[in-house]
Amino acid sequence: MQPKSYCRKLALRPAIVDKRTMNILVLNTGSSSLKAELLELPSEKSIFKKSFERLMDPQSLQDAFDALLKELRELGFSNRIDACVHRIVHGGKEFSQPVKLNDAIIARIERLCPLAPLHNPNNLRGVEVARSALPEVPHVAVFDTALHRTMPRRAKTYALRSELSDKHGVERYGFHGPSHDYVSRECALALGSNREDLRIVSLHLGNGASACALEYGASVETSMGLTPLEGLVMGTRSGDVDVGAAIHLAREEKWSLSQLDDALNKESGLKGISGIGNDLRDLEEHAAEGHDKAGLALNVFAHRAKKYIGAYTAVMGGVDVICFTGGIGENSASMRQRILGRLDFLGVHLDFDANRGCSENLNEGPVEISDSRSRVKVIVVRTHENLSMARSAASLLGASLKGEQKPIPIAVSARHVHLTQESLVKLFGENASLTPLKELSQPGQFACEEKVNLIGPRGRIDGVRILGPLRPGNQIEISRTDEFKLGVDAPVRHSGHVKASAPIVLEGPKGRIELREGLICAWRHIHMQPEDALAYGVKDKDYVEVDIIGGDRELTFKDVLVRVKDSYRLEMHIDTDEANAADLPRLSEGLLVRQGGRHAKLKSLRRQH
Ligand code: ADP
Repeated sequence: MQPKSYCRKLALRPAIVDKRTMNILVLNTGSSSLKAELLELPSEKSIFKKSFERLMDPQSLQDAFDALLKELRELGFSNRIDACVHRIVHGGKEFSQPVKLNDAIIARIERLCPLAPLHNPNNLRGVEVARSALPEVPHVAVFDTALHRTMPRRAKTYALRSELSDKHGVERYGFHGPSHDYVSRECALALGSNREDLRIVSLHLGNGASACALEYGASVETSMGLTPLEGLVMGTRSGDVDVGAAIHLAREEKWSLSQLDDALNKESGLKGISGIGNDLRDLEEHAAEGHDKAGLALNVFAHRAKKYIGAYTAVMGGVDVICFTGGIGENSASMRQRILGRLDFLGVHLDFDANRGCSENLNEGPVEISDSRSRVKVIVVRTHENLSMARSAASLLGASLKGEQKPIPIAVSARHVHLTQESLVKLFGENASLTPLKELSQPGQFACEEKVNLIGPRGRIDGVRILGPLRPGNQIEISRTDEFKLGVDAPVRHSGHVKASAPIVLEGPKGRIELREGLICAWRHIHMQPEDALAYGVKDKDYVEVDIIGGDRELTFKDVLVRVKDSYRLEMHIDTDEANAADLPRLSEGLLVRQGGRHAKLKSLRRQH
């Protein structure tokens, strides 16, 4: 693999998320219901909302959809629908992002039906009806499981026989993705922070309930599992239960599998413990009147949620934000107080008045209920899963609209060396100075006549060019392929972040130096000026995705760091391996998508560990 020539420029034509108004019809087809909402973006106005219940067969779903379209037509909206977005419960291992639906994708979703036999087939019936009624608009699928595909294997894996888990796709998938995604973003926004800078425990407490640990923007743990049964106590679902207890009950009661399924999914949880019902309001009333089992149900619910906060704090090595949402999380001040009690050791201090009064203010946005001493921010947010789905669809579709934006030139960086004055002297002698050979595209930067040899434990690379001017720290940038040759393991780092990077020996004509650190693989990045950033709708230190299309080897670069400075010139920098992987010479256009930073922070932290 030959390194390509230094800073070869290729013009890609990026298109960013389109800013025009889009009306998106959000559809959620359940086992016996169809919920629809038409949302206008980017204003996020809800234009129309309707639910149809008790749809017991395919014909009644068709009738409901016809009625929905008729109503939209009468209101003058039917020809103003730009896209439909469908909620699909299970995306299996395959879907970690929203996708545009076509026959092939639908066939792939159908193959996942065994993982969610109660949900996916119904969701797909909704897709079928909507696609035939609105064939001219794009249809997008958003998956409940997608957010959690970033979980590490240790969190996803059940300690079962691997062979069986692999064969049947048995692992933790997690659900409520659109909700956890939405509320965690809202929290970060409300705190004037980036989700990528926060460790968030998100508690969606409704009839279904789940907890999610979002470590610097990526889900790393969640309480629901292969199915939405595991984890927190729910309205009628047990959440965590000793499987041995379930086997014992089934054996003693002589239950069939479907009876066991019903017992755990429909007759347990708040309803099961209290014997009253699944509505928390009723339980709170009964408990206040001294109903023992109602009080117990509340305590078990709160205890379980508290346990998960502790566990997820440990998993993330700390917590910055605890976020409550869902019917219970948004409305029950007493449940929030029960859950948060005795967490002051974590730095959680509740503001009791704010907690009591917050529900009325949720329509205006997230409300903080922690007091000024609290190191951990506790936030209550009204969830909006439909809006979350609509945003995902708009972002996906906007990203696929190729516009005539300013092209981003791509420069391929061959391996190179930045030196300090002191190193230059050691390598090239007492009176050495850099001899500029040619100007580089970034103003003030130049390639030099001088070269050095890199020597690693396994091999050497001779004649590596020095780039000027001299810097306050040594930094040697190589590719992954170079690492194998040298026999070193260099971390992928942002420029300037060389602390605890890899060691390397440099050899010059007058001497050699052994650097304890300084060897890195450069993090792919885009240099731009403030006005470019404005035009692309990004800011310094954002991460973006760049879709590179047109060649035989279509590729999306995720986690591309945006660097904004007056002195920069617009240019994306990748290394030779990345350029080769994308078969760059054959490319004609690319898309810049304003998302994709979710893993960046996490990855950098993991590497530093
Ligand atoms: P789903 O998961 O079906 O969307 P929701 O998020 O609507 O469920 O949550 C329903 C739960 O929220 C019910 O248990 C209900 O009792 C509870 N809830 C709603 N309003 C209040 C309230 N004011 N106080 C306490 N609990 C409430």
